[in-house]
Amino acid sequence: MTAPARPRTSEQLIRAEEPVLAHNYHPLPVVVARAEGSWVEDVEGNRYLDMLAGYSALNFGHRHPALVEAAHRQLDRLTLTSRAFHNDRLAEFAERLAELTGMDMVLPMNTGAEAVESGIKVARKWAYDVKGVPEGRATIVVAAENFHGRTTTIVGFSTDETARAGFGPFTPGFTVVPYNDLAALEAAVDDTTAAVLIEPIQGEAGVIVPDDGYLAGVRELTRRRGCLFVADEIQSGLGRTGRTLAVEHEGVVPDVLLLGKALGGGIVPVSAVVARREVLGVLRPGEHGSTFGGNPLAAAVGTAVVELLETGAFQRRAAELGVLLREGLTELIGRGVTGFRARGLWAGVDVDPALGTGREISERLMREGVLVKDTHGSTIRLAPPLTITAEELRSALGALEKVLG
Ligand SMILES: *Cc1c(COP(=O)(O)O)cnc(C)c1O
Repeated sequence: MTAPARPRTSEQLIRAEEPVLAHNYHPLPVVVARAEGSWVEDVEGNRYLDMLAGYSALNFGHRHPALVEAAHRQLDRLTLTSRAFHNDRLAEFAERLAELTGMDMVLPMNTGAEAVESGIKVARKWAYDVKGVPEGRATIVVAAENFHGRTTTIVGFSTDETARAGFGPFTPGFTVVPYNDLAALEAAVDDTTAAVLIEPIQGEAGVIVPDDGYLAGVRELTRRRGCLFVADEIQSGLGRTGRTLAVEHEGVVPDVLLLGKALGGGIVPVSAVVARREVLGVLRPGEHGSTFGGNPLAAAVGTAVVELLETGAFQRRAAELGVLLREGLTELIGRGVTGFRARGLWAGVDVDPALGTGREISERLMREGVLVKDTHGSTIRLAPPLTITAEELRSALGALEKVLG
């Protein structure tokens, strides 16, 4: 028997990862060991305010009591059946998620990328079965600077060379147009178009909020031209922007919604394609599936997430505190911040490149006890848990002011 391992320091743990862990990430040098609410604690017991919230997977904060309780209760009863059998948690999850989003049907999956892949398959099937596109010809129009996940099909229509290079050949059938450009979209759509797939706000691109009228324009165009509007709300959805869905800001109802991240409450991966019956109804037994999709633990946590959102309290908080976030960032314009885009508790902040890269700013914020993530160049992204207090938010803005000063 080997002696029990001595607890290792953050530095030792970071060094230990190097030879054994694939280098597909470049994390900030913080090793988190515990978390609660908006706060995480590293191995040495230092506390940090989490202003990233797992890229919105932690919209309800770390270990929200209602979500942890739902998970514990389910762990003690039933965790997995596979879809070979029914489980007693799935009906309620699907009913309540459909109700929350104003849709008819739910296809449960696990990760965001799987929801996107599933949405692509459903859109193509709809194009052949309902629209009458000749077999093998269906196309999907997507936006430049998109982020929809990391599978080979999805990175194939990415415009980020780092995400694409070295991973081809790619799946054909995608047309890329500039984001926020209705004329380009109009020109790209034709009789073979199954769907337009976009993020209502582009998260990874730097929280790019399109012009007012763009999403309504996409809705009008897709309806008029007879193709589906698929909205990837994996990061923008479930309260982040001050509404349940980001498309609600323009009163738009897409044909298909892709949900993920916060749907799993920061506990388990839960994603879903949610759509009207005419669309999701095209799938027949055997045509699509997932061993873990819709498992009882995921359904129990997902139902508890929907229950939190049904109260409207988190959406309201995001809207209210979003005003504070916007005011705080406005004050920093010309004082290290060159511009920002924000909606609800979500912001992409462009920092004066003379003051450092986004990475350097993130490292300085880390030393001030605030965790964020850079996106491109000198942009940092703020996406705190929706449970954050006004005081905590002010202290994060104060830390930003300090590291830019
Ligand atoms: C994160 C994200 C995805 C991919 O989700 P994973 O769970 O990482 O596969 C897809 N679309 C958007 C908009 C995202 O932000």
